[in-house]
Amino acid sequence: MLDERQIRSLHVEALTREELAAEGHEPHVLHQTSTIQALLDGAYDGDLTLGELRQTGDLGLGTTNGLDGELIVLEGCCYRASIDGSIERLDDDVLTPFAVVADFEPTGEKALVGPMNFDQMTSELDTLRPSGMPSCAVRVDGSFAQVRARSVPRQDPPYRPLTEIIGDQRIFDLGEVEGTLVGFRFPDFAEGIEVGGWHLHFIDGDRTVGGHVMDFDLRRGTAQIDPSNELHAEMPPGIDLGSIDSDRGVSEQISKVEKDPG
Ligand SMILES: [Zn+2]
Repeated sequence: MLDERQIRSLHVEALTREELAAEGHEPHVLHQTSTIQALLDGAYDGDLTLGELRQTGDLGLGTTNGLDGELIVLEGCCYRASIDGSIERLDDDVLTPFAVVADFEPTGEKALVGPMNFDQMTSELDTLRPSGMPSCAVRVDGSFAQVRARSVPRQDPPYRPLTEIIGDQRIFDLGEVEGTLVGFRFPDFAEGIEVGGWHLHFIDGDRTVGGHVMDFDLRRGTAQIDPSNELHAEMPPGIDLGSIDSDRGVSEQISKVEKDPG
């Protein structure tokens, strides 16, 4: 074990790649590789394969090495949404510099009746989360009047920080679509290790389009929640939890790269 810390009610443990491989599936434990701060700083090449990632969870999100698109993990399959939103299935040997997954075992379910946008839906989801559980994984299957998503272009080294690259992102409106939102909620006090608040990726039912979700108009759907207070993070060489600096404006940078610019 490299590092361990209790951030209020979220227990965070840093693991080596070998330790992660030894853990396997654990219900209600979230697993990730690297930190969002390292990604913001341009650490776009990780050491974990999607095959290794899938050993610890079957639902999640992230990106692949070189910041090559948006990663969606659903029912144990890994997909990439490329810069134009098109989806391709990814092999187990693809590497990821940042991803988080859950071995999805929902404890709560709720029918959602729209119209509902991102903020309205996530407020509903917040009421499903048991107290003492600051994090959760979520899956929403639904019918949407609109999904606004984005993806990012693959980068070549030397890598620029994410806040510079985000100007090259492409935002697209998927229109009327049926599909699935997957993602996580982390408390603001975990920001830097993770994205604070809700972070969602979308993939349509035909597995043809998707991306990082900016906003949507949900008509109706079903939400499933898997609460957690355990986050186990695999740290690639050169990255550690001790370098997380909560005073350097990470929140502002995350807002810039993860949220709707307008
Ligand atoms: Zn994302």
